Amino acid sequence: MSTKPSHGAVIGGGLAGMLTARALRRHLDRVTVIDRDDLPDGPEPRKGVPQARHAHLLWSGGARIVESLLPGTLDRLRAAGAHRIGVPSDMVNLSPYGWQRRFPGTQFLIAADRPLLDWTVRDQVLADDAVTLLGRTEMHALRGTARHLDGIGVRDLDSGEVTELDADIVVDTSGRGSRLRQWTAPLGVPEPEEDVVDSGITYSTRIYRAPERAAARFPMVSVYADYRAGEPGRSGLILPIDDGRWIVTLSGTRGAEPPTDGPGFTAFAEGLRHPLVGELLATAEPEGPVRGSRSTANRRIHYDRLDRWPDNLVVLGDALAGFNPVYGHGMSAAARSVAVLDRTLRRHRGGPDLATTALRRIAEAVDDPWILAASQDVFYPGCRVEAKDPRLSEELNSRQEFSERVGTVGLSDPVVSAVSAGVTTLAAPVASLQSPAVLNALRTGPAQPPPTEPPLTAEERALLR
Ligand SMILES: Cc1cc2nc3c(=O)[nH]c(=O)nc-3n(C[C@H](O)[C@H](O)[C@H](O)COP(=O)(O)OP(=O)(O)OC[C@H]3O[C@@H](n4cnc5c(N)ncnc54)[C@H](O)[C@@H]3O)c2cc1C
Repeated sequence: MSTKPSHGAVIGGGLAGMLTARALRRHLDRVTVIDRDDLPDGPEPRKGVPQARHAHLLWSGGARIVESLLPGTLDRLRAAGAHRIGVPSDMVNLSPYGWQRRFPGTQFLIAADRPLLDWTVRDQVLADDAVTLLGRTEMHALRGTARHLDGIGVRDLDSGEVTELDADIVVDTSGRGSRLRQWTAPLGVPEPEEDVVDSGITYSTRIYRAPERAAARFPMVSVYADYRAGEPGRSGLILPIDDGRWIVTLSGTRGAEPPTDGPGFTAFAEGLRHPLVGELLATAEPEGPVRGSRSTANRRIHYDRLDRWPDNLVVLGDALAGFNPVYGHGMSAAARSVAVLDRTLRRHRGGPDLATTALRRIAEAVDDPWILAASQDVFYPGCRVEAKDPRLSEELNSRQEFSERVGTVGLSDPVVSAVSAGVTTLAAPVASLQSPAVLNALRTGPAQPPPTEPPLTAEERALLR
């Protein structure tokens, strides 16, 4: 007697899609990933991920999950020139509350060009012969009922031909532009609720060649807006990446959009809350044009709350929840969600509650990045809030007082700093800020004041002379 091999279909071959394919392969015989793009055989930018031209940092919370799914990835990234930046040891960071002391790193982030990050993951996932990639192929329709799918229809973008793929599990990872609501509607699935917190943030990015003395090693430098200032937020980030380059991203909320011309870009950097980013840019050589980007609202869709939903359809990554990129949480949130799917498949594969359990747990996994971003963004002038989350209305002020205390004390208290680093990097839950050690440190306050100037070492400072 022959049993049919089990098969998973993944819609979208971005970072979330590739990590999903890897996780599905732990449980299924075969996986097919479809993507509209002809995915390049190398670290190249592509149309389907336009945000890849902007600075992307992968926090340790996400990086460790990537490493556990694909052992050796972090070494491979570093060998290709990515930097491992200690958090907060290798960061010169002006947070909304002040300059952060550079305590020894308890967490880290990977600073890499986004196409390099995507390709390093993709190359390893596709090395598995049981994972098939259908490029230049887009999602056409779900096949099945509101209770169960038996496959998907996909369209070849060159021939226009539609093919049917049988699937035991379907996962949508098609990013912010996902049309999952339109695909599920003909099956009789109701419209899900959606929460949006949109501060109108806009990005401008330019690559620079770092000055020679800083090419091999330099901290990440960031100057963040103070969301409490009652004015549009302006932020700037210098992220050292491979080949002695800095990727410099400037961002502004509604009313403070950064320009996309060279002189305007420089002037915006110089006009941040502190001129450090602008001063450093004066030491570096621009390479290529300034590129802009929008489509950055915090947005989550509550598929987990629907009472009618196919038991083998899951959605994760930006298709489910996208965040203001200033917090750098999108990829790590996607990785966390894949880890949740992996764990859920271990226990519930083939069961009637697979999708509902996975979606409920994924909703929990994306809740921390959601509230971290949304509860600051709501303070910016003109922020559009369409969300029923009480933490953004009646509970906002008390939560804000607590965040402010954590943010201020954490600048110069090692205990609060370490726990905050865990939360920021999505390595630890927001709830860890309620631990007795943190609450005690918040009561007593820090033993030393925060730095009054950028905490650069003498060697780093010498660059500015
Ligand atoms: C300006 C900017 C800066 C950011 N900075 C950071 C950062 O520093 N750190 C961080 O963690 N995150 C950051 N993010 C967020 C991060 O880019 C996303 O969270 C991440 O790309 C989500 O991955 P994904 O795979 O879900 O979606 P995507 O990367 O968008 O991939 C979706 C894939 O689906 C394909 N696709 C779409 N529709 C279809 C279809 N109908 N059929 C077939 N294929 C389809 C696309 O071609 C694409 O390959 C940033 C985002 C922006 C906009």
